[in-house]
Amino acid sequence: MSHKVTLIPGDGIGPEVSAAARRCIEATGVKIDWEEALAGTEALEKTGELLPKSTIDSIKRNKVALKGPIITPIGEGFRSVNVALRQALDLYACVRPAKTYPGVRSLYKNIDLVIVRENSEDLYAGIEFEEGKSETRKLIQEIAEATKKKIRPDSGISIKPISKSGSERIVKFAFEYALEHNRKKVTIVHKANIMKFTDGLFLKTGREVAKDYAGRIAFGESIVDNMCMQLVQKPHLYDVLVLPNLYGDILSDLCAGLIGGLGIAPGANIGKDMAVFEAVHGSAPKYKGLNKVNPTAMILSGVLMLEYLKEDRAARILENAVKEVISEGKEVTYDFKPSPSESGIVGTAQMADAIIQKIKEK
Ligand code: NAD
Repeated sequence: MSHKVTLIPGDGIGPEVSAAARRCIEATGVKIDWEEALAGTEALEKTGELLPKSTIDSIKRNKVALKGPIITPIGEGFRSVNVALRQALDLYACVRPAKTYPGVRSLYKNIDLVIVRENSEDLYAGIEFEEGKSETRKLIQEIAEATKKKIRPDSGISIKPISKSGSERIVKFAFEYALEHNRKKVTIVHKANIMKFTDGLFLKTGREVAKDYAGRIAFGESIVDNMCMQLVQKPHLYDVLVLPNLYGDILSDLCAGLIGGLGIAPGANIGKDMAVFEAVHGSAPKYKGLNKVNPTAMILSGVLMLEYLKEDRAARILENAVKEVISEGKEVTYDFKPSPSESGIVGTAQMADAIIQKIKEK
């Protein structure tokens, strides 16, 4: 059976790593009918829109997409196309497995964690009030009247909504994921001691959900700052972590650091009946077009996509080929080596070729 999949190359290093992932996925023999769609700066240049409706429609139709990273300007300019896409399709669960493969350069061995990040709420809701604007002054005044608390008049404000229903579905997702993937424990991460009505609600709701899984999956709780230290000191104590949006984003990069860097960390954004697969890393603009960066994160996102498509055999073939190429270290990108003068360093496309060669040898 052929699967129809939307392919969004993205910008910066996106097109290079997406092309590598596409070739590796095709080498497994799985039949995929790719439908290319634009998003990001290329879409803006060609269509006048950052996230064209045709791209959203393509994902809604096909239910599955593989997406390269997309630039978001810092501080000013347009809002994140990545966040807009997740919100438009209600891809509420961001799943980011962090696993060490033999041969990666990391301070740790045998890491096997999964981040489940809430993807639709929290400070990423995009509800912001700019410093100096009349609506911001009005809000500051209303807050002063309602709470007797003073916000400095020259403040900008970002709103952090966290709902009971949003918390319930993400914690439930984490437990269901744990059951399905033979995991032992879910740890909820929060800052409920300070943000009682947002993180507090997330935690309280999570505790209720956890009761339904008692005896099947263990449940733990951790304050986010402590969790950062714990992950650096004792990562092996943890299994599946479920977090609100912002902490999930930050801890995803921390976990990428545990397993050898962003070049190796894959991800999936999952909704009720559709999913978009993408690496944890961004568009690394300074490496654009250099055929230099690591395609592994994007290829492993392809492995997650194959699993979602129930192509488990192809997923294992591809993951094993990636594993072999990394452990041999003869045709890998620069970030696998301690210095650029080491032997065995190849470009993005050549590492993909080596993975394809391993698949062919099977
Ligand atoms: P980044 O992840 O793009 O890159 C940070 C650094 O990580 C790079 O300079 C590089 O040293 C390393 N790196 C990243 N990917 C790599 C790879 N495949 N192989 C080897 N090394 C790799 O983060 P950034 O520089 O903070 O962000 C750049 C842009 O990407 C920003 O506009 C940001 O908003 C955007 N972004 C997009 C997504 C997404 O599309 N989902 C995610 C994160 C950031």
